[in-house]
Amino acid sequence: MDFLQRLARYLDRPLFPWKKLILGFSVGQYLFESFLTLRQYRILQQTKPPAVLSKEISQETFDKSQAYGRAKAQFEIISGLWAQIQNVAFIQLDVLPKLWSWTGDLLLKWAPSRFTGEISHSILFVLTFIVIQQFLSLPTRVYSTFVLEEKFGFNKQTPKLFITDMIKTNLLTVALVPPILAAFLKIIQKTGNQFVFYLWVFSAGLQLFTTTAYPIFIQPLFNKLSPLEEGELKTKVEGLALSHKFPLQELFVIDGSKRSAHSNAYFYGLPWKKHIVIYDTLIEKTKTDEIIAILAHELGHWKLGHTTRLFGIAQAHLLYVFSLFSVFINNVSLYNAFGFHTTHPIIIGFILFSDALSPMDTVIKLLLNILSRKFEFEADDFAKGLGFRSQLASSLIKLHAQNLSTMDADWMYASYHFSHPHLSERLKALDWKSKDSLTSEKDREGVATATGRDEL
Ligand SMILES: [Zn+2]
Repeated sequence: MDFLQRLARYLDRPLFPWKKLILGFSVGQYLFESFLTLRQYRILQQTKPPAVLSKEISQETFDKSQAYGRAKAQFEIISGLWAQIQNVAFIQLDVLPKLWSWTGDLLLKWAPSRFTGEISHSILFVLTFIVIQQFLSLPTRVYSTFVLEEKFGFNKQTPKLFITDMIKTNLLTVALVPPILAAFLKIIQKTGNQFVFYLWVFSAGLQLFTTTAYPIFIQPLFNKLSPLEEGELKTKVEGLALSHKFPLQELFVIDGSKRSAHSNAYFYGLPWKKHIVIYDTLIEKTKTDEIIAILAHELGHWKLGHTTRLFGIAQAHLLYVFSLFSVFINNVSLYNAFGFHTTHPIIIGFILFSDALSPMDTVIKLLLNILSRKFEFEADDFAKGLGFRSQLASSLIKLHAQNLSTMDADWMYASYHFSHPHLSERLKALDWKSKDSLTSEKDREGVATATGRDEL
């Protein structure tokens, strides 16, 4: 703790150019990421599939996947630029202090006096901030869903569903942000220098609560989960779970096809009570044995302790974030640089601190991706050990073809962005030998894509 206090004193320097530093981080990160995207763009211009895939992937599918990859890369550069412009404008125009004083005035004018303290003020500030951010990100979200995904045949959302989703998300935000933020601030106010420990315990409890409550209260608002019908698939999944003593509680099918043609399968639940969820799109487009191979890979993550280890790492990461936050929480020079001269609200400290920490976050993301890719190879190997080598390989190829996922990658881009090894690497590791073409254009009709929640 002594070290943290010394660090806190060292970093609190009057007139230190925090604003310039944080602006520099932000622009630097955008330039670096754009540089990586341009490197990847070169790979996306290749006209022949990687050798390991030459027989499995038709030229037509490969061309389409390259075109999809290029369209996404262009979108990344433009949307990143838009986010960058907003960020610079927010900092240069002193949006944070202005918004803080505006929301404070609102409360003084309209709210009963017991709701004018720092906690109520912070809640109103954060909710307003979220609304502004959402409004500003709307053009890119609309473009991504209704132009980009639509063009490649993945979008299944109607404007009506898009809007009702947005309304539901906002209602959830209004319901959940106030109590969580109030608890967060109260803990810091009450426990003073000891807040790191208490905040850590609170966050771990919150995570546990969310894991339990999310599928019961939140997910049903957006998707329908129904029990998997009796049949070959159910019998085989149950058999697989039983043979590895996997604590399978229930087996669900989710109507992922409502929003997107991308497909997936995942596990959730507490360590002693797990549920398996399979996308309807996956069942529709993949053979039973291939789904079992995918689940064997998922089971590998559980059996090899990946889930537990990642949970442990997440806890260590939180402890690190809160400890460093204790270094910045009273940093007057940081508040001053951003226009907070007389008041030093905790929530503002946390926002500024997160910005100052972003280069470290980049390094952590890189390390976590390296670890995650190692886990993916191990889980593939586990499924291979259970005798699912060829089924896993063919399901990976099918899913990548259906989702038009990128099949090859620039090593720098992949090291930084990918939590999963790319297809060619995985097939090589599975010792896959090319056979006849597994995918024809027919397989691509009405498919499913990576939802960002690529649990495979
Ligand atoms: Zn995996």
